[in-house]
Amino acid sequence: MSWASSGGPGRMAGGGAVVARAPAKVNLHLAVGPLREDGYHELRTVYLAVSLFDTVTVRPGAGLTVTVTGEGAAGSGTDAVPTDRRNLVWQAAELLAERAGVPADADITIDKSIPAAAGLAGGSADAAAALVALDALWGTHATRGELGALAARLGSDVPFSLVGGVALGSGRGEQLSPVLARRRWDLVLGISGEGLSTPTVYAELDRLRAEGRVPDGEVHPSPDPVIAALRSGPVRALASSLANDLQPPALSLRPDLRRALRAATGAGAAAAIVSGSGPTVAALAPDEAAAVRMAATLAGEGVYRTVRAVHGPVPGARLVG
Ligand code: ATP
Repeated sequence: MSWASSGGPGRMAGGGAVVARAPAKVNLHLAVGPLREDGYHELRTVYLAVSLFDTVTVRPGAGLTVTVTGEGAAGSGTDAVPTDRRNLVWQAAELLAERAGVPADADITIDKSIPAAAGLAGGSADAAAALVALDALWGTHATRGELGALAARLGSDVPFSLVGGVALGSGRGEQLSPVLARRRWDLVLGISGEGLSTPTVYAELDRLRAEGRVPDGEVHPSPDPVIAALRSGPVRALASSLANDLQPPALSLRPDLRRALRAATGAGAAAAIVSGSGPTVAALAPDEAAAVRMAATLAGEGVYRTVRAVHGPVPGARLVG
């Protein structure tokens, strides 16, 4: 790796601020293999980046500070997002600073629209946006490949949050290969009031598998039908190929999600699936107008805390302004 050691400040908005945003993801396909010796599961997943964004603003500072506004801010009524070293953005800042040999000095504000612990990779989006913004603030001039390597150290979903679009993930999800999507896909996200912890959902999957209540990890559904449908398919082809091995454990932990899935199909979804480790429901809409109608219907029914009509694919972490 080559790093510009003293490149000086990069592109800045007013007041020395640099702003970046990154999208939420949904998993259109998620096959979970057996537990590996390192404690992770081997995954095959098809990620889609969707138009729900967190914004990260970084300013010159002395040491690191992290402030959270919007979804997950302390006092907002949802599980509070940490503002210390536990925040993935803090870890991203320390990692970039250490790798580039610059002091970790920045005041960072995360404006969250992506709810935390929702299966939408909100923390990963923030980390990816922070890498891009701090690289510009600090003038460290990392290549996308170098940022990708740091992203993989921060978390399984962070590399995808950086690239966005559509991709096939393997390993822990961090090894990406691009997938062609020729058209826009419209979805409605049904977001619950209470999050689900990703490790708890994986532990529940292991428990259900050990008891023989769901197929074990050797039996993988293939991602190929989803990839073929994304390339050329009508909505019904994608609808019939959506799959998520984490849905049974998410339903086991949160039986109310059955009703949430039924509500989505009742409102006109071509298919509805739990996104990642949940509890967000991702409902595939026949088209944009249908997504808007579905969102209005579902908001009126009050099954979810929040309902969002979104589309994908959208780009990954980018500077804005
Ligand atoms: P994934 O789908 O990637 O497994 P998720 O979308 O379900 O994750 P996140 O929103 O990424 O979950 O947050 C999971 C946990 O990570 C939160 O409960 C929180 O304690 C911690 N966390 C750390 N940094 C952040 C951040 N910037 N935003 C949200 N949560 C964060």
